[in-house]
Amino acid sequence: MADLEFLEHRITARLPKLGDATTTIEAPMTVRIDPLTGRSARLMTDVKQPPIPRPDLSDLTADPPFCPFCASTIERATGLIDPAITDEGRIRRGSAVVVPNVVPYSEFPTVALYDTQRHFVDLPDLTPTLVSDLLEALVAYTRGVHGIRPMWHSINANYLPPSGSSVVHPHAQSSHDDVGTTAQRDLVTRSQAWPSGSYWDRLVAAEEGGERWIGRIGRVSFFTPWSPVGFDEVWGVVQGCPDLIDLTDDDCRDLATGMSAVFGSYHAQDLASFNWALTGGGPAPSDRYSVLLKMVSRSTPIPMYRSDATYFERLHGEAVIDQTPEQVAATVRAHFPGAA
Ligand SMILES: [Zn+2]
Repeated sequence: MADLEFLEHRITARLPKLGDATTTIEAPMTVRIDPLTGRSARLMTDVKQPPIPRPDLSDLTADPPFCPFCASTIERATGLIDPAITDEGRIRRGSAVVVPNVVPYSEFPTVALYDTQRHFVDLPDLTPTLVSDLLEALVAYTRGVHGIRPMWHSINANYLPPSGSSVVHPHAQSSHDDVGTTAQRDLVTRSQAWPSGSYWDRLVAAEEGGERWIGRIGRVSFFTPWSPVGFDEVWGVVQGCPDLIDLTDDDCRDLATGMSAVFGSYHAQDLASFNWALTGGGPAPSDRYSVLLKMVSRSTPIPMYRSDATYFERLHGEAVIDQTPEQVAATVRAHFPGAA
């Protein structure tokens, strides 16, 4: 019977020394294999991208003449949600609001604002309450869509242009349809095929207390993945929760508390842009799958920035990362609730 294995290949390249081309040095790198998907990632910890100081974002994030998501505009600039999903029109929880998206990323696409009162909310201000309200509002929407028929559900976010966001006003989006995404289908299919019980329970048990462990809040376990797909990647596994419709208000609060801590750690490192995704278990979820949160940082928003997605990431499906998940976990852990 197969069990979870953290496989890695250690490779040594023999290269000319930088600045001394006649000298040959040995340059180590590691290729790590994800235990579930088989996806590999390249860790080059001896070669670091130079850190970029946090830029002045005041021009980018200044109040614009028109924003459809600011409080003064949202009632006339956005539509109402289909009554088949909710009779609330726009779903509001605390400062958060969910409205229909105008771009068809899925059959039922939404936009959700953390806060309509502020056009820009910086990373340290994405508090547990703000994030929790947003998640609760999107889970309410998801339950409404699910009442139409079971589907693939995900809740996702871009933040600032390097993440793919075309709108500065901080927001999340949810997708709901009969197809799901490549990564979501793959995770669920492989979870179902895992030969011995829940892969996710097994993974959490293997990670708990280890070098990649960050902490547990409620039934959400936070750690860094063995084989990351992005920089500063953090995962949250909601054990015993097969789909987004099963997220309780407590789960939303616990996810949000962890996410807010990760945002704080990103800000402390001068990182400004990120993506996150919460994926459900599909139209026929089972206890073999647990809702998974993935968070990554993105390139710093400076003019002519270097993208963190190269041919490796876009065409090979393989991340090249300049720090280990163990180093990422140590950094994030210091920002977590209860950290010394
Ligand atoms: Zn705005």
